[in-house]
Amino acid sequence: PLPNAIFGKDRVNSAGVDLSDPLVREPLMKRLAKLGSKHWSAAPTGGGSGKKFPIYAPYDTSQVVGGVTYASEGDVDRMVRAGLAAQIGWDQLGGNGRAKLLNRAADLFERHSEELFSLCIREAGKTLPDAVLEVREAVDFLRYYASEAVRLCGNVTALPGPTGELNELRLHGRGVFACISPWNFPLAIFIGPVAAALAAGNAAIAKPAEQTPLIGARAIELMHAAGIPKAVVQMAPGDGRTGAALTSHPLIGGVAFTGSTDTARAINRSLATRDGPIVPLIAETGGQNAMIVDSSALPEQVTRDVVASAFQSAGQRCSALRVLFMQDDVADTMLEMIAGAMQALAVGNPEDLTTDVGPVIDTEAKAALDSHLAQLKTKGRLLAEVPLPEEAMRGHFVVPSMYEIKGLKDLDREHFGPILHVVRWKSGTLDKVIEQINATGYGLTLGLQSRIDTTRQYVEAHARVGNLYVNRNQIGAVVESQPFGGEGLSGTGPKAGGPHYVPRFATERVTCIDT
Ligand code: GLU
Repeated sequence: PLPNAIFGKDRVNSAGVDLSDPLVREPLMKRLAKLGSKHWSAAPTGGGSGKKFPIYAPYDTSQVVGGVTYASEGDVDRMVRAGLAAQIGWDQLGGNGRAKLLNRAADLFERHSEELFSLCIREAGKTLPDAVLEVREAVDFLRYYASEAVRLCGNVTALPGPTGELNELRLHGRGVFACISPWNFPLAIFIGPVAAALAAGNAAIAKPAEQTPLIGARAIELMHAAGIPKAVVQMAPGDGRTGAALTSHPLIGGVAFTGSTDTARAINRSLATRDGPIVPLIAETGGQNAMIVDSSALPEQVTRDVVASAFQSAGQRCSALRVLFMQDDVADTMLEMIAGAMQALAVGNPEDLTTDVGPVIDTEAKAALDSHLAQLKTKGRLLAEVPLPEEAMRGHFVVPSMYEIKGLKDLDREHFGPILHVVRWKSGTLDKVIEQINATGYGLTLGLQSRIDTTRQYVEAHARVGNLYVNRNQIGAVVESQPFGGEGLSGTGPKAGGPHYVPRFATERVTCIDT
C-alpha cells in the first residue's frame, strides 16, 4: 500500500492510486480518455415516471455526460413501501451478514474505480487527484461502517439483573432511511450515509444532488451487484421536490442530509409536522471556516496549507478555508508568498492532469460567486487573483481570488468556491479572533498555524468547531482517523467516519426474560 494508507486495528484504509508513478498514470490516462465518451444514465430503482434531463460537464457545457429520470412522488411512495417490506429481512441478516455485503460492495467500487474516477471528473468537474481521493473515501466508508456493523450489531449485550432475570440489549434498524446528499462529494458523501444506514439494519433510499445523479446511480448498481437486495438500497434521483416527497413521507424512519443549513431547517420542519413517528435527522451543513496564523508559524508551511485549504477542489468543500486570520507582524511577508503560490495554480479542464483548479458546479454557483467577487472589489482589497484560461468560456469557472476584508462581519454567509478572505489581527487579541469565529454560529473546521502550545490549548478550549487542524491543511478528513462534522449551524453530528455515527441510525431494544 501507499505510505498514506491508514492502518486501523482490523482494517486498512484504501490505498488509492499512485499518480506520481508514470507506469501507473499514463495507461490510466489512456483508459480514462476512452471512458470520456461513455453516456451514463440514472433512474429510480424499479423505473421512474418523473421528468427527464440531460447532464452536462460543468467545465464544457457542450459535453453531455448522460441523462437522468426523476423520481415522482408516486415513485417515492412505492420505494418507501418496498423498502419497509424488505427491511426486517435485512435487519435479521445481522451485523456480520450485512458487513460481508458492504465489504463486497467496497471491493466492487475498487474494481470499477476507473469508471468512478471518470464520472467524478466529467459529472462533478473534479480533478483526477480529487477523484482518486473521493473513491478512496467511499471505499473507506463502506469498509469502516461494515466493521461497525460487526462491532455493534453482531452481538447481544447482556445487562445486569437479579437472579432469575435475563436482560439483553440489541440494536436494530429503524426502518427506511432517506439519505440526501450533495454534489461536492457525489460518491463519498452519497454512499457514506447509505452504508451507515444499511450497516445499522435499515433499508435506504439514496437521493443524489440534482447536479450529480449519474455517479450515484453507478454506485447503487454496484451495491446491487454486490448482493444487497434491490428493495434494501434504492435510488431516487430528482430535485428538491423529490427530497421533500421523501422527508414528508409518513413511513420514513430517519433522514441523513448533507447540504445547506437552510435545507436542513426545512427538513426539520417537515419531519416535525408530517404525520408519522418522531425520527432522527442527521445533518451536516455549511461552515465559515477560518485559519489562524500567528508569528511563530512556518511561512512555507502556511503557504502550502492555505493554498490547499482554500483552492483544492475549487474551494467546494464544506471544510475549505474561507477566512485567513493573519497576525499583523508577519502578514505582509506571508501574504506575498501565498499570492506568489497562487500564480502557480493552473485553472482549467479537469480532464487535463496539470489542472489544479477545475470549474464550479453550475451556472447558479458561478453567478453567486461572481456577484460576491464584484462586491469584494468595492468592500475589500484585492491581494491576488489567478487569470482564467480561454477554455474557461466553455464552462462554469470562477477566478480564484484572495481579498483582504476588515472582519468576519463583512461576510454575510458562506461563499462556496475558490475565494479566500483575509483578516489581520494584532498580537494579544487571540481571544477576540476566537470570539469573531464563534459569533458566526458555524463550527465546522478551524486551522491553526502556531508553534506555541499554550495558543493551541487556548484555541482547543474556546473554539466551538468540530474539526481543528494544527500546522497542516484543514481539508480531507480521513475515515476513522478524523471523524468529520461540525456543531451549531454546521450540523447535528454525530461525525461521519467516527464511532458514534452508525448507532445514530439504529434503535435500541431490550428484552427482559424471567427465567
Ligand atoms: N470531509 C471533507 C473534508 O474533510 C469535506 C466534506 C464536505 O465538503 O462536505 O474535506
